[in-house]
Amino acid sequence: MRIPRQIYEEMLDHAREEAPNECCGLIGGSDGAARTAYRARNAEASPLRYNLDPQDQFRIMSEMEEKGEELSAIYHSHTASPAYPSQTDINLAAYPDALYLIVSLADGERALRGFRIEDGEVSEIDLAVE
Ligand SMILES: [Zn+2]
Repeated sequence: MRIPRQIYEEMLDHAREEAPNECCGLIGGSDGAARTAYRARNAEASPLRYNLDPQDQFRIMSEMEEKGEELSAIYHSHTASPAYPSQTDINLAAYPDALYLIVSLADGERALRGFRIEDGEVSEIDLAVE
């Protein structure tokens, strides 16, 4: 998946602003590329887990539809661990078709990684930040 640098920066900014709690949001896109980052509230307000606020999720999905975007990815941050799904992330992953993006504030080299999570299996997806 192609990710414009601006969207990458927006996710990092969001992660920094919410720290030490995890941030979360949705990425709208088309043609295999991310187009818009939508911030959502983390209903858990926790440094260890996230849960997209259902009202935010509903509002964002409507906005995407108006713009002709598809749901490309669900993102959240890890403030003190690498950009890899935690056991909680794996247990709570409800969308096998979704791409899960994780931004890490603790892993400068690989601050953004993408995964599919299906039946407890994690597979990494190539991302191109451009
Ligand atoms: Zn996580």
